[in-house]
Amino acid sequence: MIDTHAHVMDKQFDADREQVLRRYWDAGGEVLLNIGATIPESEKNIVLARTDKRIFATVGLHPHEALTVHDTDFKKLEQFAVRGGVVAIGECGLDYFWRGEIKDNPRMIKKAKEAQHQLFESQLALASANDLPVVVHARAAHDAIAALLKQHLEKGGLKKRGVIHCFTGTQEEAQTYLQLGFFISFTGIITFGDVKLEEVVRAVALKKICIETDCPYLAPAPHRGKRNEPAHVLTVAKKIAELKNIALDQVVEQTANNAREIFLFSDHQKPHR
Ligand SMILES: [Zn+2]
Repeated sequence: MIDTHAHVMDKQFDADREQVLRRYWDAGGEVLLNIGATIPESEKNIVLARTDKRIFATVGLHPHEALTVHDTDFKKLEQFAVRGGVVAIGECGLDYFWRGEIKDNPRMIKKAKEAQHQLFESQLALASANDLPVVVHARAAHDAIAALLKQHLEKGGLKKRGVIHCFTGTQEEAQTYLQLGFFISFTGIITFGDVKLEEVVRAVALKKICIETDCPYLAPAPHRGKRNEPAHVLTVAKKIAELKNIALDQVVEQTANNAREIFLFSDHQKPHR
């Protein structure tokens, strides 16, 4: 069993991180992929990966960082990309779900979109240059993301493809990503009773699916609204087994194999720097 998207360096785990990890290994966790959404988080992930050969890191800048990111941040990301234990770039992507004061301000939206595009593009280029897969955050922006992925693929980049994390889009959007060679990853959101999303889970072939928690966020039912943790990825696997009417073991095993196919998890052989 592999949770392909956790944020265990989040401060919500500061008091009991060791016990949280212990519960994951006890529940059958084989490998844990810890995701970087900011520079400090990416750096912490690299440090944590050094402590346990079963823990790997990604390094990236979330689209929400786009308006405040500095050139020096991207320089750091370039350095992080070659560190031991780092197996992917992300989470990176586009998020057009506007909230707060930006929501009613077309000028700000335009500015945010441009900044997000630039940040996403640079990370796609970084992944290509380092021959790493990408972990893509895609919210309310599937057309724009698919177009950018296509562009980079046509240029010969993104050879390792990657995964569309926390997928909540439509059947057609899932198909577009699959045709581009990407995997689709599901969180606890699939346990919330969204019938359309359940149809998408049924339709995507198990050999293209990853499971994830996105903890501490998105706890699956019946823990909804509480702090999520890697051990709960089993609940996501159970829901997929139920929806596809197949054995839980099959889901756990195949999704772990898919994760190994994308991320390799061999990078601890690189020296830790
Ligand atoms: Zn995340």
